[in-house]
Amino acid sequence: MELENRTTAILPGRERLWATALGQPTEVLDALGQGDEPRVIVLTCTETGFASDQLSRALPGEVYVVQNLGGFVPNPSWQHASSAVSSIQFGLQHDTVKHLVICGHVRCRCLHFANHNTLQNSTDDDATLVSNHVLQQVDNALRYYWLRNLIWTNQLRVHAWLLDDDTARIATYSPKRGDFVLA
Ligand SMILES: [Zn+2]
Repeated sequence: MELENRTTAILPGRERLWATALGQPTEVLDALGQGDEPRVIVLTCTETGFASDQLSRALPGEVYVVQNLGGFVPNPSWQHASSAVSSIQFGLQHDTVKHLVICGHVRCRCLHFANHNTLQNSTDDDATLVSNHVLQQVDNALRYYWLRNLIWTNQLRVHAWLLDDDTARIATYSPKRGDFVLA
């Protein structure tokens, strides 16, 4: 019962954190084109068929790209060393970085492979599967205290993006809508 009460008390706080963490895509685009220091860290899947820094028409050096299969951010409770988390921490050493974008792509073969082998009965379509995955990675990222501190002190915004591989269009997560909407 006590655990349930504590969990209930934590949830509203997590929702507020989400609401303050997730910024608008225009904030990312406005931050670009102002110099050659990285303004944005983009974490995405290695199999994406695009260069993340070119997708936003950023200038060379403005986007710090971190990639791994599936674009995973490990939950800190797993206590595994993670090159993705280390890379994000290194990227945040640049004072110019104000945004972290976690970007999934609809045709992610890595996720579909994992889904096929672990959730045989899943009926999620491609976009739903990847959307849920991206939001889970954002949630995992927000569990790192040093990242939360940057958000609470208005030094960093976190964004959830979903790329349509066929059209190269990006949908961004809107906490108000509770869904991804085309940018
Ligand atoms: Zn992928």
